[in-house]
Amino acid sequence: MGGQGLRRRLIIFGAPGSGKGTQAELLRERYDLDHIAPGDMLRQHRAAGTELGHLASDYMAAGKLVPDELIVNMIRHRLEENGELRGFVLDGFPRTVAQARALQELLEKMDAPVDLVAVLEVPEEELVTRLSRRATEERREDDTPEIIKERLRVYREQTEPVLEYLGNLVPTVRVDGCASVEEVNRTLVQAIG
Ligand code: ADP
Repeated sequence: MGGQGLRRRLIIFGAPGSGKGTQAELLRERYDLDHIAPGDMLRQHRAAGTELGHLASDYMAAGKLVPDELIVNMIRHRLEENGELRGFVLDGFPRTVAQARALQELLEKMDAPVDLVAVLEVPEEELVTRLSRRATEERREDDTPEIIKERLRVYREQTEPVLEYLGNLVPTVRVDGCASVEEVNRTLVQAIG
């Protein structure tokens, strides 16, 4: 396995259904990273009945973004816990320009800049197909047709602008997210090195 000991700091970027979670998990294994996925963290908070879980619940069910301050605090704690030990792969963060600014500031303080932003590109029709399939398989409450539409709208309006912001600061690679899981992984590993 190449490059062990190097702490990669990565962002996997893409629309809901683009395959971020799957790819982030493969990268976690390969490079021994902390896989940081705010969506999963929030679902755990909700299941555990924490205050944050309660606060986030209605936003998530409606396909809206949870307020930046809550998310940024949650991620800050996680990155601080992770400390200097491991690199990380961010999956689903940052999702707004304000979150991206907060991340840059935080990582600057930690002297730990992001190495690469990998964007998984998938056309909207394919995203809808995938999310609808996941709705049947996993019964996630936010995978109903109206909520799927809303999440894709939120992505276009609030999340896509993050790429313009990060594109000036961090090396960015665009990957065809319609390729097979293995092929996308291979391309990412090549880009990461
Ligand atoms: P997907 O990428 O398929 O939309 P996630 O599991 O990443 O699913 O996110 C599920 C929900 O959790 C989002 O719709 C949103 O309500 C909330 N969420 C996740 N990440 C963020 C974030 N960075 N900022 C605000 N809300 C978030």
